Amino acid sequence: MDKQKPSEITLDTPIQYVKGVGPQRAQLFRKIDVETVYDLLYLAPRRYEDRTKITKISELTPNIYATVRGFVSLIGPRKLIGKNGASVVIEDSSGWVEIFFTIPEMVKKFSIGDEVIASGRISQDRYSGRPFFIHPEYAIVGKKGVEELVAGTIVPIYTQTESLDTRLVRKIIYNVLNDSRLRVPETLPEYMRERYYLYSRREALKKLHFPENLDEAQKARNTLVFEEAFYFFIKINWKKEQSLKEAHVLKPNGEITRKFLQTLPFQLTKSQRKVIAEISQDLSSTKAMHRLLQGDVGSGKTIIAIYSLLVAVQNGFQACLMAPTEPLAEQHYIVLNEFLAHLNINTVLLSRSITRKKREELLESIRKGDAQIIVGTHAIIQENVIFKNLALSVVDEQHRFGVVQRGKLLEKSGEHTPHFLVMTATPIPRTLALTFYGDLSISILDEKPANRGKIVTAVRSEEKRKEIYKWLFDKIKEGHKAYIIAPMIERSESLEIKACEEIYRNLLEVAPEYVKIGIMHGRLPTEQKKETMVKFRTSEFNLLVATTVIEVGIDVPDATIIIIEHAERFGLAQLHQLRGRVGRSERKSYCILIRSKNISEDAQLRLEALEKSNDGFYLAEADLEIRGPGEFLGTKQHGFGGFRILHLRKDKEIIEQSKIEALKLINNKDKILNIKEISENLRTLLEGDEVYVA
Ligand code: ADP
Ligand code: MG
Repeated sequence: MDKQKPSEITLDTPIQYVKGVGPQRAQLFRKIDVETVYDLLYLAPRRYEDRTKITKISELTPNIYATVRGFVSLIGPRKLIGKNGASVVIEDSSGWVEIFFTIPEMVKKFSIGDEVIASGRISQDRYSGRPFFIHPEYAIVGKKGVEELVAGTIVPIYTQTESLDTRLVRKIIYNVLNDSRLRVPETLPEYMRERYYLYSRREALKKLHFPENLDEAQKARNTLVFEEAFYFFIKINWKKEQSLKEAHVLKPNGEITRKFLQTLPFQLTKSQRKVIAEISQDLSSTKAMHRLLQGDVGSGKTIIAIYSLLVAVQNGFQACLMAPTEPLAEQHYIVLNEFLAHLNINTVLLSRSITRKKREELLESIRKGDAQIIVGTHAIIQENVIFKNLALSVVDEQHRFGVVQRGKLLEKSGEHTPHFLVMTATPIPRTLALTFYGDLSISILDEKPANRGKIVTAVRSEEKRKEIYKWLFDKIKEGHKAYIIAPMIERSESLEIKACEEIYRNLLEVAPEYVKIGIMHGRLPTEQKKETMVKFRTSEFNLLVATTVIEVGIDVPDATIIIIEHAERFGLAQLHQLRGRVGRSERKSYCILIRSKNISEDAQLRLEALEKSNDGFYLAEADLEIRGPGEFLGTKQHGFGGFRILHLRKDKEIIEQSKIEALKLINNKDKILNIKEISENLRTLLEGDEVYVA
């Protein structure tokens, strides 16, 4: 049975070799980006359930969630809810309750007299009116095993996906943590752990998943946040001096930029002119530009990007522009071609859809320098693209574009460091940005182009959908163009696409003939995505049903209506981004947020905030307030900078502390390396050549 069982489990061990996983489940884990033991153990619980409170059996009421504790007094076959199964009856001093299993074999684990803790939702027998449990989580007191951990304790809850149930995830994490073969190298020196009241790494991982109380969970989390931030700072600051190559000097004034600016179809805003001046200044220095451009949706960041690219080209170098999604990369390519039509510049799009032969040709032209501007998704830096003389990279809509990726870019740039511009609509408080990027400069577009039409935002209940559709069809008849966004389904692209297709099919049936509908989601062939966007742009389609693939950056100026289904499921920032797809011309625009009946208070507040304001900075603050600082247990998987545990805002204090320690350590490197207690990981990192450890 035990094929290839490794004698040691390290954090690098593929998940497949973990007890209870195997090749098939490994596939499922891969879907949530868990490939190794490291990924698994750093999968932070979404929240914890406190099952330490024991309810008296006599006080159970239907539909509540409860934990009871009692002794087994009866075991036997039973028919309930129309199913033949078996029951175990447990009693405490106040009464008895039945635990029903639809699979009769499951009662075999119990014996009369066993003490049992059971946690779950309470059902009610339709005939007798009595409460009962059905397939609760339970533990038999005194019996070892994972069951012990799911009742009567603090229980971790993971993000549920289609096929990976939180119980399974919990069990597998438990197995790993209790496997005697597991090796977890320490990462933080002892003096640091003592100073900041942190656990050892192994203990932290244990307590993150199986804390005895919420304080332990917090301390575990603090430890891992500290670790994550600390290594981040070590990596970005270490060898920075050494590896800093000079950048190419790019003269801003020249024929190309002059022509470009002169032929723009609009006046630049004051903000845009200011930012262009800032960038021009940066580029004309041998010190590489490292600039973050923040500007709310629709503030006109693309023009700034194009200008920067052109400065590089004008000086005889290559420049690249990267976007987070394929449709956005595609759009940038189209926009560039429009703006640069008269300038005779060779712009190429490195997309996934092209044939291998075409791809080879493109790579060759990039290597030889024929390709002057290279557009693509972030995959550009992952692949074997070799530039002739890359002097500038622009990254759109991705403030998460981290140091690691930048490191990869540096590798591709030969003797010189490319100038670097990151653009984002997500406002990051300046102090935080500085904490994270140190020498990063920040430009802000705090003004939108004049003559923009108003966006009216309205929240509507889903019962009104029919009327909303009717209104939509009328508007389309008047010449409006619209998006409908399918509901987001957490961690399941396929369900999301299914929902999108359903809406699409339904609309094909109910919409009048003049409504020409297109569909857009991530799994369509690239060719088709391209065609659909072109048709929507040219109004061959006047309604586009889409998933969140169109969330960022898509710019179809004459689209004026966006309807978002199940708006309560989206985050505030995300809704604001989506809304930013309209209001891009002089016409009045509409954003209709369709909500379902029962939504949480937080969701309610989010929707209200959107109705009230169209200002990204205001909304970012509101978002922070709604989510509150106390919500530390609700860590999202995809945080800033690709961090697994730390949250940029919530963990501000720990981040600051770890930064201080990291810098202290770097400045005293020689002394530190002689200290015995320094962790093995840190030693390797400091002694090695690898600057950008992934
Ligand atoms: P974002 O900042 O969201 O990336 P874009 O760069 O896509 O915004 O710009 C939104 C729209 O505004 C585009 O259609 C762009 O051509 C247009 N635009 C940009 N700058 C100006 C300006 N100064 N005046 C008028 N329209 C502008
Ligand atoms: Mg944009």
